[in-house]
Amino acid sequence: MELWRLTVHEAHELLKRREISSLELAKAVLERIGAVESKVKAFLTVTEEVALKMAEEADKRFAKGDTVTPLTGIPVAIKDNMCTKGIRTTCASKILHNFVPPYDATVVAKLKEAGAVFVGKTNMDEFAMGSSNEFSGFYPTRNPWDLERVPGGSSGGSAVAVVTGECLAAVGSDTGGSIRQPAAFCGIVGMKPTYGRVSRYGLIAFASSLDQIGPLTRDVTDCALMLNVIAGHDPMDSTSIPQPVPDHTQALVADVKGMRVGLPKEYFGDGIDPQVAESVRQAAEQLAKAGAELVEVSLPTTDYALAAYYIVAPAEASSNLARYDGVQYGYRAAVADDIVAMYSKTRKEGFGHEVKHRIMLGTYTLSAGYYEAYYLRATKVRTLVRRDFERAFKRCDVLLTPTSPVPPFKLGERTDDPLLMKMSDICTIPVNMAGLPGISVPCGFLDGLPVGLQFIGKVLDEATLLRVAFTYERLSGYRNLLAPL
Ligand code: GLN
Repeated sequence: MELWRLTVHEAHELLKRREISSLELAKAVLERIGAVESKVKAFLTVTEEVALKMAEEADKRFAKGDTVTPLTGIPVAIKDNMCTKGIRTTCASKILHNFVPPYDATVVAKLKEAGAVFVGKTNMDEFAMGSSNEFSGFYPTRNPWDLERVPGGSSGGSAVAVVTGECLAAVGSDTGGSIRQPAAFCGIVGMKPTYGRVSRYGLIAFASSLDQIGPLTRDVTDCALMLNVIAGHDPMDSTSIPQPVPDHTQALVADVKGMRVGLPKEYFGDGIDPQVAESVRQAAEQLAKAGAELVEVSLPTTDYALAAYYIVAPAEASSNLARYDGVQYGYRAAVADDIVAMYSKTRKEGFGHEVKHRIMLGTYTLSAGYYEAYYLRATKVRTLVRRDFERAFKRCDVLLTPTSPVPPFKLGERTDDPLLMKMSDICTIPVNMAGLPGISVPCGFLDGLPVGLQFIGKVLDEATLLRVAFTYERLSGYRNLLAPL
């Protein structure tokens, strides 16, 4: 048996029964990385030694009868914008090419405590700004279903690692769709939890009021298991929610009888590929046959969410990225006449084009005289977007939409068209603007390329998302898809 084909829960059963060891599992995954990585480039750093050592530790836990968790001995990958003590963390940026964090992000610490095995740090768009992984400061990741196409972004490396068997599960971050869109493009499950459900401590900040960490997995059960480990209040993140975390595996019930599933009409019209819309509609029909009640709803401000996001996110980014000046850590320009020249050369050489673009945009919209016209107005639009959802949730329990308006596109196809690139996130961005949880699950293939659908839930109601996603997974049979490589 090729062990990298196992899901987290399948591997856990075998580990528990001592039919396989964590070391065997880690070696199988590392070998798989050796076999496919040159084709897909999902990683920026592969941590072979760390993985073997952590796997041995996990085996000791099993051998001694110590407490184990469903993640003990499971090979996972971590997006390269989460701080890992002693392991290089670049955010896919030249400006952090040599940065080795002195501490672990809370999510990383939680995974360690659970006994997970770290196989590496995954590629991404630089500072998580992008939708295709083509804006990585190092090299693009490729979609394993068609190597000429993008895997989505910005957590494209994490999604690809999961669907190729280069890990069993991964974590990513989602500011406007960066977990869900690559999950859809790669044929896996990706969840952005409620804003504040998972600690952002040690996540390299892009847009702090939108950023959220979440799991990328091969089925819904694994998503619940990962969420159980990473969620929870953290005093180190003042925006994390001080609420207990339920056991999300309790939500894995294949039953949607009486559940009201809302279909927002704005997500099935203009700008959405008709075949994608059709796949999602068919999924809705399947849920209806299983007893769900379909309700048409309207989210009228959807059209403005994207524009408002591209004010709010760059504004926060311009402020967050001010810290990269070549002084304390990271890249520093070799020669400069004085300190101001050093700052400016460092930033000119260290940041890529897209990141500079956003810093300039953000600085502009926050500057005196423009703040009210742009930033303040965008935050008001944000309130309207949130109210739209609140109104819709009076009539339904969960919303169903496409995840991405289009199937995976070709490398280079959108890099010269910023608007088209940004349109990749029209279905996911409103969810971040409102702070709601969303999950993408595979719902079929178009010309051999995966298509995903998105469920959107109420604040802190990840349970309903998992339940409907789990039911749909049973109905569709789309789980543990592995790309043919
Ligand atoms: N693609 C969006 C952007 O470029 C969202 C990215 C993300 O979620 N990190 O901002």
